Order: sequence, then C-alpha cells, then structure tokens
Amino acid sequence: MLRDTLRTPDDLVEAGFVPLSARDELAKVAARYATAIPPALAALIGQDQGAIGRQFIPDPSELHAAAHESSDPIGDEALSPIKGVVHRYPDRVLLKPTLVCPVYCRFCFRREHVGPGGGALRPDELHAAINWIGAHPAITEVIITGGDPMILSAGRIRTLLRRLGDIPHVKRLRIHTRVPVAVPDLINDAMIAALDVATPLFIVVHANHALEFTDPAQGALRRLRFGGVPLLGQSVLLRGINDSERALRDLFEAMLNARVKPYYLHQLDPAPGTARFHVPVAEGRALIAKLRGTIGGHALPTYVRDSIAGKRVLEESAVSD
Ligand code: SF4
Repeated sequence: MLRDTLRTPDDLVEAGFVPLSARDELAKVAARYATAIPPALAALIGQDQGAIGRQFIPDPSELHAAAHESSDPIGDEALSPIKGVVHRYPDRVLLKPTLVCPVYCRFCFRREHVGPGGGALRPDELHAAINWIGAHPAITEVIITGGDPMILSAGRIRTLLRRLGDIPHVKRLRIHTRVPVAVPDLINDAMIAALDVATPLFIVVHANHALEFTDPAQGALRRLRFGGVPLLGQSVLLRGINDSERALRDLFEAMLNARVKPYYLHQLDPAPGTARFHVPVAEGRALIAKLRGTIGGHALPTYVRDSIAGKRVLEESAVSD
C-alpha cells in the first residue's frame, strides 16, 4: 500500500492513476483546487479506478465552469454572520473550525474554499464564533463541519466539544466527517476519549460507494460505536459512482451493515467544474422509487437538495432540474 497522501500531479502519475500526458493539464487544476488522496483510498483506487478514483482524481474538466454553477452554491457566505459560522435554520448552526480535509472530493460544494491553505480558525476567531453561538439562545444544535473537523487533534476536538457543551441552550452536537472511511487510523483511543462528552453527540459519515466500507473503515466505525456515538450516513448522488439501483442498494446496505443509518442522499450542488457528476433529479427520484420496497425502509435515506433557503425533499415533490 502507498504510505503517503498523494497531493500533486506527479504523485498521481507515479501511482499510475493518470497518464504522464495529463500532468501539465492537471497542474492547472491543482493550482486552483486542492488534491489529497490518503493511502487507504489510494489502495481502493488501485482496486476500482471507476467508482472510487472518479471521486478523488482531478480531471481537466474542472477548469470549465457551467453558467449555472456557483462558487457558493448553497449560500454559505450569505448566511455567515461571523467567520466560521453558517446560520441557515433558527435552531441549528454550522461551525467550521477548519477548512482542511483528509481527502478532497472533486464534487465538493465548498471546493472553492476548502484546502490546506484554508487552515483552521485562529483561537480568537474560534472564540468569537463560540461566543456568537452562546449569544443566540434559539440555537439548540451545533453541526461541526468544514473542511473535516476530525482532522483536528483529539485534544482540540475535546476542547471544542466541551466549550460548545458548556453553552446552556446547546442540547446536541453533530460532527460531519469523511475521516472514518478516508483515514480510519485517526479514530484512535485518544479520539474516542475526546468524543466522550455529556452533550448528546452524533457523527454523520460521508460515503458514496459500498467499497469505502473497508475493514479498517469498519474498525473505525466500530470504535466510534463502542464509544457510544450514534452514526448516521450521508451521500451525494454522483454520475459514474453510485447512479444505479445496484450501486445505491449496495451503498445503503454497506452502511447498515456497519450500523450507520443512511440519513441523506444529496442532489449534487452545482459547484464550478462538477458537471461530470450531475444526475438529473428525475433520474434520482426514479432510482429511489425503484429501491423503495426492495430494501428495508430503514436503509433508505431522504433524497434532498440543499439551497440557501434550506433542504428540500426531492422524492415526493414535483421538482425538476
Ligand atoms: S471531505 Fe467534505 S468538505 Fe472535504 S472535500 Fe470532501 S466533501 Fe468537501
């Protein structure tokens, strides 16, 4: 297995994931969007370039934005009252302590913002963000996202969870993360201890293909479970990755088998250069309709589209695109 995270076009050529002839074009992509493929996922790409590689290997098409695509497709910036905070719903708030990720998904709706250069909130910025949450008593739940918050050290996560839990009106915490499937080793004893907080905490795991539930990933999820953390799953409907009845069934069953409740299936948000992943809503609805009745109801997530106005359930509505 490769031991280092792949970050440059040269790394990708050396790993055999792209031809040498693509290197110069990919250098232009790399100048704009971060790349990181950690060893666990690089090993998977070696087995299945299609579904896994497509999620993480950069492509020259990323340099071409379609007219309807936006650098802030669901309005995070417009809804940010203070750096690191997004306030879309009265009772919930997003807190983004870092914009660094262990892996950079080519379809990410925050792709214009995430990356190693994005860094973490400075201590004074984090302090101000937590104070802002403390000053808004209608907020009962804090969703810690990014970037990927679980890339932070166990010590920083411990401190963050406790500071948020000390706010009397904050009744629940949530962490959105790719880490259990991307860098399962980070879910170690220190991290499990850091997650042991008095405030109810849920972890929402982002995975898009059944193959991501490797033995190490399942080990990480098991450790989280034994640590008493309820697990939910979220996915994005992606062309060439999970846009078939079989792929979605396998994904949701893999989640359930890992005791991760499928929670949301997201329609792709139109971030720049992501058109190759687009699946029309009508097709997504047809896929969900085929699955309903052929797998257990608890295996089916809610099919949604995010927007500046919030989530919209696509399955039963007459929404088209
Ligand atoms: S891990 Fe999440 S925030 Fe990071 S690139 Fe992937 S989708 Fe975006």
